[in-house]
Amino acid sequence: MKWRGKVKVNLMSNGENLPPLRDVINKYGLRAEKSLGQNFLLDLNLTGRIARCAGKLEGETVLEIGPGPGGLTRAILTEGAGKLIAIEKDTRCLDLLGEVSADYDNRLTVHNEDALEIDEEALLEGEKAHIIANLPYNVATPLLIKWLKKRHLFKSMTLMFQKEVADRIVATPRTKAYGRLSILSQWLCQTSKQMDISPKAFTPPPKVTSSVVKLVPYDTPKYPADLETLEKVVAAAFGQRRKMLRASLKPLGGDAESHLVEAGIKPTQRAEELSVEEFCRLAEIYKAAK
Ligand code: SAM
Repeated sequence: MKWRGKVKVNLMSNGENLPPLRDVINKYGLRAEKSLGQNFLLDLNLTGRIARCAGKLEGETVLEIGPGPGGLTRAILTEGAGKLIAIEKDTRCLDLLGEVSADYDNRLTVHNEDALEIDEEALLEGEKAHIIANLPYNVATPLLIKWLKKRHLFKSMTLMFQKEVADRIVATPRTKAYGRLSILSQWLCQTSKQMDISPKAFTPPPKVTSSVVKLVPYDTPKYPADLETLEKVVAAAFGQRRKMLRASLKPLGGDAESHLVEAGIKPTQRAEELSVEEFCRLAEIYKAAK
């Protein structure tokens, strides 16, 4: 409760008492560790823009991976998240994150764990969450694959990747970036690139440009297919992406040529020419032929 003029209003605390992020880093001796993929964002205007990509957060539950010094964390809380569950592997960040939590009405809880190991379902206790994260680049792709498989737990995922990975997620057929990540992501989610971020925005600056991608899971996948079969077909097709499909799909067994024809695909086409829908159709045929 706070007083506004003569009226007592229920205002959430919004981090007004927290020091600038650069001071936090100095106070806690947070030298960036390469092994933890630490490239920090210290500009709260920028972290605010990233948090807003997720849409309205008022009262929402959010999962953040790798809060680090807390720049994006503060932004998510300032946007009104009702509950922010953060997973941070680096013990050096725990005390400073405790201060952040205290200044935002304890809406933040921090778990000192490895994001690759966490059980999201247990953490969320039945609530659907938005994931928002400036991901450690060394584990960003495995984390995305993990969350795509658990997509029913999430309302949206607003994630920062290296630009090259972001481009693969949103890539369209007949482009170099199109591949396994594009097909899996676009089959299961509506995907959109939100913004590119220059290395200069980070401390320390990474070698490459970064991008924020938003993924909103569909209630049901865009086209019918069995995940395991689709993954196998896509992996075989792109494993030898320069080869014609009739050759690249051979390791899967069965009659590749006739399966392709049945799916309405020319056996002489190459993996990058197929749409997500065509891959799903082909996967269904492989599954049925088993
Ligand atoms: N969110 C902060 C920001 O935007 O300034 C830090 C982002 S930094 C790119 C990645 C963060 O993830 C670091 O704080 C790092 O310690 C943490 N991290 C790295 N690997 C992790 C893992 N496997 N599980 C949880 N956190 C991890």
